Amino acid sequence: MSSSPNALPSYLNPDDLGPWATYLEQVDRVLPHLGRLSVWADTLRRPKRALIVDVPIHMDDGTVHHFEGYRVQHNVSRGPGKGGVRYHPGVTLSEVMALAGWMTVKNAALNLPYGGAKGGIRVDPGQLSLSELERITRRYTSEIGIIIGPDRDIPAPDVNTNERVMAWMMDTYSMNVGATSPGVVTGKPLTLGGSLGRRDATGRGCFVVAREAMRRLGMELKGARVALQGFGNVGNAAARVFHDHGARIVAIQDVAGTIYNPAGIDPHALGKFLAAGRGTLLDFPGIESIDPAKFWEVACEILLPAALENQITAENAGRIRARLIVEGANGPTTPQAEDILLAHGAIILPDVLANAGGVTVSYFEWVQNASSFFWTEADINARLDRALSEAFRAIWDLAQERKLPLRTAAFVIACTRVLEARELRGLYP
Ligand code: NAD
Repeated sequence: MSSSPNALPSYLNPDDLGPWATYLEQVDRVLPHLGRLSVWADTLRRPKRALIVDVPIHMDDGTVHHFEGYRVQHNVSRGPGKGGVRYHPGVTLSEVMALAGWMTVKNAALNLPYGGAKGGIRVDPGQLSLSELERITRRYTSEIGIIIGPDRDIPAPDVNTNERVMAWMMDTYSMNVGATSPGVVTGKPLTLGGSLGRRDATGRGCFVVAREAMRRLGMELKGARVALQGFGNVGNAAARVFHDHGARIVAIQDVAGTIYNPAGIDPHALGKFLAAGRGTLLDFPGIESIDPAKFWEVACEILLPAALENQITAENAGRIRARLIVEGANGPTTPQAEDILLAHGAIILPDVLANAGGVTVSYFEWVQNASSFFWTEADINARLDRALSEAFRAIWDLAQERKLPLRTAAFVIACTRVLEARELRGLYP
């Protein structure tokens, strides 16, 4: 068996692979380290299932608009698909495929009993009213209802989706199957079977792996300067946890602009300011607004991208001064940028480890739903800390032993698990 010449799915434009190209290159980099299992490489290069759905809804003005939605199940060899749903005008099939591929790797790196999946709708949710948002969510959920379910594929929040969207997804699925089914999505409101600790889990996880790396590198956490891109679910929580442990948030960038304060920005106060609708990031008192391009040059020890993919590129990587890059976002660093950063001695904590806190607590939520027995927040945070510290240790040790970048080490551990499962299950029929 060998890698087939048509490993690239024909439904993608080979000249514009988007984020899928980054994912494929990361897979290519791990293959030499997989031994005989590399014969199954095409399993990683082709999603198991990619569903494209038309999502027509009545707009408030009485017209009908059609949106394009996706749900990709990249791999389900180790368990049901698991991964978030993104609402963004830039969503494409290639992007959803890459995000689903990274979920396969992430879930296996953490040894969660899941495959990898992801979904999305190409829409700017900022242009929708609340009732339009509800209708688009319900219709999308009905359309992908033929492949999701608590034992098949379990969506969760991602960019521009949240607990409220998850509540509508859970309700729509439940109405369609005729029974309340909390386990079909995670990241739900607490009242509907959500888990304590889920809201901050991804950001908290970023902190846990950074803390572990800093211990190994002899870096001081107290006073460490952090520059953060994205102040949403991930960035906001990460900023608070870093701040609460003595680090200093010196720069934050979001869609509105970039703010800087070398003395430190209080993320609790900023979060409250934004939630109260008192303005954008740029209106927050006591900060300096800087040119967004200068964000990458800010003097800091830790850079934490928590927005979108392809943000750290060959163009800006050479200007980054941080020693530690913590990938809160999925796919924020292009392979070319990674090479530049590594050559400069930076340490990259890869997305498949650094932002795995969210799916880890999603797993806890799913387990709690299955048993209808709920854990305390302290218990969840302790289990999260243990799971991430252990995954970090395994990846760090393998990287040291084989002299590999941390991303490749994470992929070696994860892809070995995925391909062993693939081989043991065999091909049916
Ligand atoms: P979110 O919608 O809550 O927040 C996104 C943030 O990014 C916002 O602050 C937005 O202003 C900012 N942003 C968007 N485009 C930007 C740009 N071009 N430049 C600068 N800032 C920009 O999304 P989120 O859930 O926090 O997700 C952020 C990233 O983390 C994504 O890559 C997502 O896949 C990843 N992630 C999220 C979770 C989760 O639990 N939500 C888990 C793992 C990974």
